[in-house]
Order: sequence, then C-alpha cells, then structure tokens
Amino acid sequence: MFIGHFGVGFAAKKLAPAISLGYLFIASQFLDLLWPTLLLFDIEHVIITPGITRVTPLDFIDYPYSHSLLMVCGWGILLGLLTWLLVKNFKYSMIIFLCVLSHWFLDLIVHRPDLPLLPGDTSRFGFGLWNYPLITALLELIFFLSGVYFYYKTTTSNNNIGKYALIVLIGLLILIQIMNMIGPPPPGINAIAWAGQLQWLFVLMAFWVDRHRIIK
Ligand SMILES: [Zn+2]
Repeated sequence: MFIGHFGVGFAAKKLAPAISLGYLFIASQFLDLLWPTLLLFDIEHVIITPGITRVTPLDFIDYPYSHSLLMVCGWGILLGLLTWLLVKNFKYSMIIFLCVLSHWFLDLIVHRPDLPLLPGDTSRFGFGLWNYPLITALLELIFFLSGVYFYYKTTTSNNNIGKYALIVLIGLLILIQIMNMIGPPPPGINAIAWAGQLQWLFVLMAFWVDRHRIIK
C-alpha cells in the first residue's frame, strides 16, 4: 500500500490538530520510511519477481525489523514516547502509536502472505489484494481521499502556499501511486531503496504545507 498510508496521516490531523502533517506522515508511513535504509545496509532483503502479484513485482523475503507486528508495536511505542516528550499530551501520543500500527494492518490487506508477526518466526500473513489491481487502486484512493477530506475539514490555508502546495502534494502522491501501479518493474534493489528515500521529500513538503495552514 502507498497513498493509503498517507491518507491515515492526513486523517489523523482531525484527531491531533496540534501535530504537523509532516510528523503524522512520519508516523503512518514510518515502516516504509525505515525500510529503504535497512535495504541499503543489507539488513533487510527484497527480490524482484515480475508477476508475483499483479500490482507489484516485489517479493518481500525478509523484513523483520521494519514489518513484523512485534517490531511495529515497538516503533509505535518509540514514536509515541517521542511525541510525549515533545508535546506532553497522552492522546496525541496514542494517536501517533496507532498511526504507526495502522501501517501493518493496511499492508496486511494488500500484501501476499509475507508479513511476519515476530522477527525470526516463519509464519507469514497477508490477504493478497495486490492480485486485484482495480480493487487495490480503489481501496488506496478511498483511504487517501477520506484522509484528505478530514485534513481539509480541519485546516484552512492562510496563504497561497498553504493552498496550492497542498494541491501539489496531493497530486504528486497520486502520481507516484499511478506510476507504482503501471510503471515497469524497478531496475534493481538500489533503485528501490533510493526511490524509497525520496519519500522523505513528501514528509518535508507536508511540514512546509502544514506551516501555512491553520486550524479551523
Ligand atoms: Zn509497508
């Protein structure tokens, strides 16, 4: 899943209006922000197997630190604690924890059975919606647009940056989703990892956009 996770970040703004959209993106997309770095350091592994699912050719053979449920809980607690240190608000800490956790459950819907519960465990989970491209696209879009709707309901722009940069951000995310779904398989693991790192640009952009919007 891709933009669905960003949809969660957008939606969380309604529950945690004092938290920047950039930080909410970090939480909802944390596992996939961490994963490219673990690939680059050869700590986690993926292989490219065209046809393994109809949506993505990626075979996630080994990603226990970024994507096992136990570790995801750990990352969620860590980010929740960080939030507590930053804003001293239990509700916001819980929302950040849940945003991190949501990633695993959304991935569970689309991934083939490749998601582990614990590092080192051999059982794998995933409902495999990636074999149904149209339903996948629809689901991603529903999650994403619902999140965007809540963000618009919660905030309003106080200048042109807040207005137009948000539209650009939304457009770029949708574009990447489309390219992910219809583009050719990536040329190699390094390309996947570096393309993954580019997601930090969306995080930076979200911090920037959010600074130019105010709570309604
Ligand atoms: Zn993921």
